[in-house]
Amino acid sequence: MQSLVSVDQLEVHFAVRTGFMQSMFGKETPVVRAVDGVSFELGKGEILCLAGESGSGKTTTGKAILRLVEPTGGKVLYEGEDVRSYNRLRLRAFRQEAQIIFQDPYESLNPRQTVFSTVAEPLEVNNLCRSLAEKEERVAQALVDAGLHNPRELFLRYPHELSGGQRQRLAIAGALVLDPKFIVADEPVSMLDLSIRAGILKLMVDLRDKKGIGYLFITHDLSLAWLVSDRIAIMYLGKIVELGSADKVIKEPLHPYTRALVSVIPTPRRKVITQQSLLKGETPDPVNVPAGCRFHPRCPEAKPRCREAVPLYREVRPGHFAACHLLDS
Ligand code: SF4
Repeated sequence: MQSLVSVDQLEVHFAVRTGFMQSMFGKETPVVRAVDGVSFELGKGEILCLAGESGSGKTTTGKAILRLVEPTGGKVLYEGEDVRSYNRLRLRAFRQEAQIIFQDPYESLNPRQTVFSTVAEPLEVNNLCRSLAEKEERVAQALVDAGLHNPRELFLRYPHELSGGQRQRLAIAGALVLDPKFIVADEPVSMLDLSIRAGILKLMVDLRDKKGIGYLFITHDLSLAWLVSDRIAIMYLGKIVELGSADKVIKEPLHPYTRALVSVIPTPRRKVITQQSLLKGETPDPVNVPAGCRFHPRCPEAKPRCREAVPLYREVRPGHFAACHLLDS
């Protein structure tokens, strides 16, 4: 598959603001390692899922790829070009091709803008239409592509007059109107009712099939990841700990963290969640990343070595990568 986005050792570290007294006494400024050396490839027309608990760095990774937050290290190549080297003009063009869809459609939409002005705005900002008729045509087409029928009847409606599912479709239309090649979909269905989720996910897959859009699909819900993704990357505390085809990661997980996440996916046959399968404790503070394997304080299979040595992230089986000392042969 042709590469669309290539991420190499991406880092986003933030310095935490400390008080005057702390700086007076020369205390070191604590650093949040939100993304701490993430690497992966996303192919054209591929759906790659970044999954993990909240606080794992999934959203920051997505935003850093789009340069909505500035990376502090590593490389992001988009169609072979380093996005960190873009000048203002190239960054603007990149932002047309690479879009983001947020979790909460109500928050991401301006309640004072009609459906028409919401979808037309990116066209106006980028000066992409020569006439009102052309603009109306492109807005109507984007609404249809997002699964909203009779688009012209919706032009003068406001977001509060739409259902939750329609609002998320409107947000998707706002991204589609610029004909993107790459979309970061950040928990796009987690605020929606179960009955509406399937329709939005099917729309994403259909758009991939029809338009060849590549997605970075961010979710904490592994069952959704399995449903729509070609490959899944599992993140823990700023790092990818496992990556492989969706089927392999779910059916034959290699990493103890993935096994714990998979064990709580509800299935018709599994009615009771066993105590052993529940993860102990919370994700540690990314300011104080544990030494050795960063998962060791919560890992049910940890060995003394795990507290000292960082496990190597490597290809364990063809196309299936993981970082765990148990996999060292
Ligand atoms: Fe658990 Fe050790 Fe593997 Fe880390 S390296 S996941 S602590 S067994």
